[in-house]
Amino acid sequence: MVAKRAKSINNHKVKKFFQYIFLFVFCSLVSVGAKAQALLAEEVTIQRQMEEVKTIALRNMLLNEVNTVPSADMYPEWVNTRVHFKHALPDSFRIDLRGFVMPTTNTQITDKFGYRPRRRRVHNGLDIKVNRGDTIYAAFDGKVRITAYQRKGYGHYVVVRHHNGIETLYAHLSKKLVGANDNVKAGDPIGIGGNTGRSSGPHLHFETLLLGSCLDPALLFDFKNQDVTGDFYLYRRPGSKYIENGVVKIAGPEKKYHKVKSGETIGKIARKYNVEEGIIFKLNKLNSRSIIRPGQMLRYQ
Ligand SMILES: [Zn+2]
Repeated sequence: MVAKRAKSINNHKVKKFFQYIFLFVFCSLVSVGAKAQALLAEEVTIQRQMEEVKTIALRNMLLNEVNTVPSADMYPEWVNTRVHFKHALPDSFRIDLRGFVMPTTNTQITDKFGYRPRRRRVHNGLDIKVNRGDTIYAAFDGKVRITAYQRKGYGHYVVVRHHNGIETLYAHLSKKLVGANDNVKAGDPIGIGGNTGRSSGPHLHFETLLLGSCLDPALLFDFKNQDVTGDFYLYRRPGSKYIENGVVKIAGPEKKYHKVKSGETIGKIARKYNVEEGIIFKLNKLNSRSIIRPGQMLRYQ
């Protein structure tokens, strides 16, 4: 009986021992499993991150490939004089506006780009109100092409040729902070705002040029909202043909309309938008005897 009992105790001990062993092995397995799962999850996350990096890198690579039009290849020469010269413009050109910095933090446009009938001349840029002493910044990375002084025109001014293919001009400065052939980064101070040259009050006269031809800066820069109009701006030479959705189209100046208000005349509308009356007559197939009515839409550009 005693012996039997001893055997039973022994059996009990053995059972307990195996139970512990089983528990230990089970816990170890669970722990290994959890660790493995954690590692796996980590690996998946890393892989995903790698893929994202690859996608971003790939995207940038593709974008750069599309946009690799170094200004050095576009412009046959580098001269420190002559702002406006006419090189043949391509049918289309994609301007990379990424990496911009607004030339001024001021937002008030005091004069638009375009023809001024009263002065019978074209305004080549945008005028932005600045205060004397305000810092003017380079809009993109590039190299300073011109720093000069024009008593009857631009006053102190700076022209920068950018890697994205365009040039920018900053005029009526009270002081220039860069010299010709200096390399600049977007946002580098290049001048101090002022009222030099033909100017009736401190303002920045800002021009954007493609191969020597002026583009309306408002197509690229939105001073009011301190932003560019997009990552890219697709320039199309007016009159050039292109295909969109399988249809051949001809690029032209952007069409703009005005809704006639009571009491308005074509002359008044022409003055409002700085265009010639004749242009409004022609665009709307009107003549001097035509009558315009309130609510009517008139194209002025
Ligand atoms: Zn101006």
